[in-house]
Amino acid sequence: MYAVKQDLADELDAIRDAGLYKEERELTSPQSAHVTTGSGAALNFCANNYLGLADHPDVVAAARDALDDWGFGMASVRFICGTQSQHRDLERAIAEFSGTEDAILFPSCFDANGGVFEVLFGAEDAIISDELNHASIIDGVRLSKAKRFRFRNRDMADLRAQLEAARDGGARRTVVVTDGVFSMDGYYAPLEEICDLAEEFGAMVMVDDSHAVGFVGEHGRGTHEHCGVLDRIDIITGTLGKALGGGSGGYVAAHTEIVELLKQRARPYLFSNAVAPSVVAGSLKALEIARDSDEPREALRRNSELFRSLMTEAGFELLPGSHPITPVMFPGEDGARKATEIADAMLAHGVYVIAFSYPVVPQGKARIRVQLSAGHSEDDVRACVAAFVAARDEVG
Ligand SMILES: *Cc1c(COP(=O)(O)O)cnc(C)c1O
Repeated sequence: MYAVKQDLADELDAIRDAGLYKEERELTSPQSAHVTTGSGAALNFCANNYLGLADHPDVVAAARDALDDWGFGMASVRFICGTQSQHRDLERAIAEFSGTEDAILFPSCFDANGGVFEVLFGAEDAIISDELNHASIIDGVRLSKAKRFRFRNRDMADLRAQLEAARDGGARRTVVVTDGVFSMDGYYAPLEEICDLAEEFGAMVMVDDSHAVGFVGEHGRGTHEHCGVLDRIDIITGTLGKALGGGSGGYVAAHTEIVELLKQRARPYLFSNAVAPSVVAGSLKALEIARDSDEPREALRRNSELFRSLMTEAGFELLPGSHPITPVMFPGEDGARKATEIADAMLAHGVYVIAFSYPVVPQGKARIRVQLSAGHSEDDVRACVAAFVAARDEVG
């Protein structure tokens, strides 16, 4: 064991030396637009709490009531004795919101993506995946025996080439899989073009809409609503761990037969505990809020637009777009150091943002990724911009 311990310590040192060691900052408060950490109060601009529902009183109350009404835990997988009627209620609500026939809950979206490919795509099939897809898609695809093809991020000419290659290889089923929104850039997948190409080649389309469900599109139904292809997506995966209250859980929303087969075969569904009752109830409430009220989405849009316009006015370089993920770019050789120093300086001003550099993003494309929330006030957004300006002056 001593030798292993030493090897692992060396590996950890190598991570530190490369500047890639991830320190965790401990919050001493609920997740919200305003949080406290060991070093004091901070405005939070790095959560996936897009609709501000993570500490919403109605969501918290629904979860609290569920402890009395439904108990603490399920102590079972779904198919043995772990399905309460509210699990099915949540699945039906997700399906209705997504515009699909049915849905199946997983412990997380990581698990949803981990379970879906192996069941639906075998050795005679082809999976064509965007190169920037989420790690859980990459791992899920690895678990399937299907032939794998990769296309350059949002590059439709390359997607066509990969569809041709899959067809020429004689694939039985072909699926094109993409994130709805790419998390480092805030860019939308071009779903209309993807659907057109898929249709031309008789392929299915799968979208992971984790960074969209609840707030992208006019009614928050997702990237497929935003792109005008609500009824053209075969498989949607998503998370309850971001805009929809940020508790935990993920899902696959799809045709009845797909959902039914996943309930028979998907390993993370069959062999992992059911989502906890309070999380189910809180998520249902969050989904109801997202479905029934435009107000949080409008607040989020106002905040995102205000932030983009004030930052542009202040001379910062942003990636273009409209998603609340707003990358503030620090290009060039010196960018990674600058982004990190500015993020650190901003925390001293009470604003919490995170810098990303290579290898998380391409070399020379360092950035601070700001994430707006409906929970931010206009003053919060202005304070964030003021902190950027002050930090830039200090760092030089
Ligand atoms: C966050 C995220 C996931 C993981 O979701 P969890 O429910 O936290 O496991 C999967 N896919 C994408 C695209 C994500 O952004």
